[in-house]
Amino acid sequence: MALKKTLTIAGSDTSAGAGMQADLKTFQEHNTYGMVALTAVVAMDPETWSHDVTALPIELLDKQLKTALSIKPDAIKTGMLGTEEIIGRAAQAFKDSDAEYFVVDPVMVCKGEDEVLNPGNTEAMIKELLPIATVVTPNLFEAGQLSGLGRLTSVEAMKTAAQIIHDRGAQHVVIKGGKALEGEEAVDLYYDGETFTLLTTDKFQSSYNHGAGCTFAAAVTANLANGLTPREAVINAKAFVASAIKNGWKMNDFVGPVQHGAYNKVEKIDVQTKEV
Ligand code: ADP
Repeated sequence: MALKKTLTIAGSDTSAGAGMQADLKTFQEHNTYGMVALTAVVAMDPETWSHDVTALPIELLDKQLKTALSIKPDAIKTGMLGTEEIIGRAAQAFKDSDAEYFVVDPVMVCKGEDEVLNPGNTEAMIKELLPIATVVTPNLFEAGQLSGLGRLTSVEAMKTAAQIIHDRGAQHVVIKGGKALEGEEAVDLYYDGETFTLLTTDKFQSSYNHGAGCTFAAAVTANLANGLTPREAVINAKAFVASAIKNGWKMNDFVGPVQHGAYNKVEKIDVQTKEV
């Protein structure tokens, strides 16, 4: 059977745990044909690991998108977009494509940096990306921004945020409690417009988890391309990333990436589901 084709519109993380590198590795682990349209290049200072982000000229993104769309991706994912202009281009790319699925990972900060990439981006994501998203995968912080509720600290607050984000057009919403929500377990909330479902695994070490968010959203994208329902796609993606986190490794004194291939090569992890 022909491979399904997956496209990420994202930045390059030179250290390769996150960004388009995480997406490509994850697409490959799911046996899809992964492609990239690059938005920016992130390099790190070896002494301090401070991030240096260089955006690519918009004309270069346009050319890449033209190439990628001509290859007809089945599913498209967004990662770090960085500017309102690029957010608009990513939305247009999905509309211009024949892709059936659009997964929006609403990246707002570059991990390791505290500064929100650009506050105007949140408005652009709400206006341009949410209305066409098949699945949106905010973490707690991003869900607080996309819903306008600010800091979220409980499952009840996550439910309210998911409802608002769904009302803003996203068909399926996963709010990742992840390591930020207190407790022994890593809890995400999935909402399909009708039912709220908690997805839970053990909480594993959080020191070497660089790239967890990208890996999760890329797994959702590949699962959708491969024909899983959004619900199955999200549950399987959580199992995939849980294994990747559990088997994360120390790269240097600053960072440790997830192990993208751990689900297929090391161990499978069960995800508990519960309606709330
Ligand atoms: P990060 O905060 O590293 O960006 P996310 O919040 O994007 O991670 O989470 C990505 C996925 O990984 C979610 O499904 C989340 O629940 C899961 N996750 C995050 N941290 C852990 C952990 N320490 N143990 C198990 N799963 C985790």
